[in-house]
Amino acid sequence: MGVAELSYVQQAFDQNWLSTVGPNLTEVENIVSEQLGLPALALASGTAGIHLGLKLLGVKPEDEVIVPSLTFVAGCNPVLYEHARPVFIDSENLSWNLDPQQLQEFLIKRAKLNRLPRVVTVAHLFGQSADLDAVIELCRRYEIPLLEDAAESLGTNYKGKPTGTIGDIGVFSFNGNKMITATAGGMLISKNLNYIDKARKWSTQSRDEDSGGLNNYIHSELGYNYRMSNVLAGIARGQLEVLEERVDQRRGVFDRYLEAFSNLEGIGPQPEASWGNHTRWLSCFLIDEKEFGSSQADIIRHLESQNIESRPVWKPLHSQPLFKDYECVGGEVAEDLNRRGICLPSSSSLTEEDQQRVIDCVKSLHRSSR
Ligand SMILES: *Cc1c(COP(=O)(O)O)cnc(C)c1O
Repeated sequence: MGVAELSYVQQAFDQNWLSTVGPNLTEVENIVSEQLGLPALALASGTAGIHLGLKLLGVKPEDEVIVPSLTFVAGCNPVLYEHARPVFIDSENLSWNLDPQQLQEFLIKRAKLNRLPRVVTVAHLFGQSADLDAVIELCRRYEIPLLEDAAESLGTNYKGKPTGTIGDIGVFSFNGNKMITATAGGMLISKNLNYIDKARKWSTQSRDEDSGGLNNYIHSELGYNYRMSNVLAGIARGQLEVLEERVDQRRGVFDRYLEAFSNLEGIGPQPEASWGNHTRWLSCFLIDEKEFGSSQADIIRHLESQNIESRPVWKPLHSQPLFKDYECVGGEVAEDLNRRGICLPSSSSLTEEDQQRVIDCVKSLHRSSR
């Protein structure tokens, strides 16, 4: 946490704005809107934002929705909430995000059958943007709206534009482990003000105006309890003031790993694509078992034995039991990244001393030290 968060929370208590209306909420939306240049809606989670986003873009039962296979399950669960069907697309090796080439091949086939998906979603994993121009071009050609899952990419840009602002709808997360956090929370942004107004209504149980003047609770549409509270908005408000600092800290952590591993064969970083900045929300590396002398799994287990948490790059959704019945285009790249990729401790509060312990543990498994 930075310095201002508690005072904004205190303000909410002092003024007794403890529910889903209040100055912190208004302010947090204003700040994000101003920084990104688009209307914004504060929500209870990023998952809620993706769910409302899919509904806004017209997803109905049995519709198909494009989802990158390599992502967190929250990027796909809302597709099932709507009884729609995900179609998974493999990653490309440069950014590790959705491969536009494989998306194109799929869309060409589907256009011939007149069975195009309803929505395309992309994720910007670990703080790096997907190859958006190529995706946008396909979305335009086939007239399919694009939802950007920018939960991991607050602070990231694509050719100078913030991720989340380029598609029809963008979604951020303020969950506890993200670049900045409200302990929980999310944000939906769109240039379409109509979308923001609709999502605001849906997020607070879709209450209609009571023209009878009685303050009756009248509902004509299905709604949700998805709004952020004014208390948590106070935390988000304070956190937005330290976003840049957090990005610098995460990049600092990554740079130290990079430097420490620079002479080691068999370990290399997630590449940084030329089209944007990489915030290094997580520091990810790829292990070549032959060259390194140990596998990714050996390293994760050894770190765990030293009480250091690390994990593989996301397990592809097409290999998850939950999604076993759905189609996947390709998948080998995502599987390889999951088998060889490792996310190392990356917190902005990681001390240099603790990071040195991580580095020493990783190095101790290299064939040159045995
Ligand atoms: C964290 C995350 C989400 C969900 O955000 P929550 O705020 O935790 O609901 C969605 N997609 C990706 C890629 C994420 O990492």
